[in-house]
Amino acid sequence: MAKRVCIIGGGVIGLASAYALVRAGHEVTVIEARDTLGSETSFANGGQLSYRYVAPLADAGVPLQAIGWLLRGDSPLTLRPRLDPQQWRWMAAFIGACRGSVNKRNAAHLLRLASLSQTTLEQWREADRLDGFDWRRNGKLVTFRSAGTFEHARSKVTDTLQQQVLSAADCARLDPALASGGFVGGIYTPSEEVADCHAFCRRLAARLEASGRCTFLLGKKGHRHSPRGWRGAGCRNGFGRDAGRAAGAGGRASQC
Ligand SMILES: Cc1cc2nc3c(=O)[nH]c(=O)nc-3n(C[C@H](O)[C@H](O)[C@H](O)COP(=O)(O)OP(=O)(O)OC[C@H]3O[C@@H](n4cnc5c(N)ncnc54)[C@H](O)[C@@H]3O)c2cc1C
Repeated sequence: MAKRVCIIGGGVIGLASAYALVRAGHEVTVIEARDTLGSETSFANGGQLSYRYVAPLADAGVPLQAIGWLLRGDSPLTLRPRLDPQQWRWMAAFIGACRGSVNKRNAAHLLRLASLSQTTLEQWREADRLDGFDWRRNGKLVTFRSAGTFEHARSKVTDTLQQQVLSAADCARLDPALASGGFVGGIYTPSEEVADCHAFCRRLAARLEASGRCTFLLGKKGHRHSPRGWRGAGCRNGFGRDAGRAAGAGGRASQC
């Protein structure tokens, strides 16, 4: 049965979700706080479609590493402890997940999700002839200068059929510019892809507009009403609660 779905956030995640829903026969409204779609992190991200580099952040040793990060001025991590039970519950769950066995299990889940994502994009490119976003399958080579980090990365290779562990000489054969880089080795994944994320957003938006089943509300903010989060929240901006189920797609970072 066709449903009416409201998506909050018109970045690549919101637009791709809208496209999948419209493709499945549903009607969608995308609420975007800015005046243009795909203008936050999806505007100029690295364009890497890294399906096989799925290492979850939670891993053995990460809590200790995180304490070290937090004491640094240029820390990649910021934490503002609050008297908020939800924050403490989240931290306890995160610390609980910082185990090698959980990391391995979660990496396997992420790998399955990434494979589905790759197959879905392939279907959209081929069956729907979705193009014009500079998609290429040119592979990805991650190189290492320290034997320790190379060994660690090697132990985390999730898909041994798709990923090759290369010596320094192999890396230089693949790209002669790497011969003098002081690298000890690399992990090469020929099936990795790249694309222009913003161009992809524009192409999705054009298809959605042409479908006649998607409405964009630009310059409007979706609001969270329910303590359970975005799911089931009614949207302001002229929507009543019968406007459909709301799903938040306003994330600022995802797995790279
Ligand atoms: C420097 C950098 C490089 C990156 N490189 C890569 C890469 O190479 N590969 C990769 O996969 N990922 C990369 N990322 C991660 C990147 O963030 C995601 O890939 C992707 O762009 C995130 O899309 P999104 O739709 O979740 O978020 P966004 O593109 O940020 O979209 C969220 C949208 O929601 C809107 N919004 C937020 N709150 C509301 C609200 N309440 N109501 C209405 N609208 C709202 C925002 O205005 C925004 O338009 C990179 C990130 C950064 C910062």
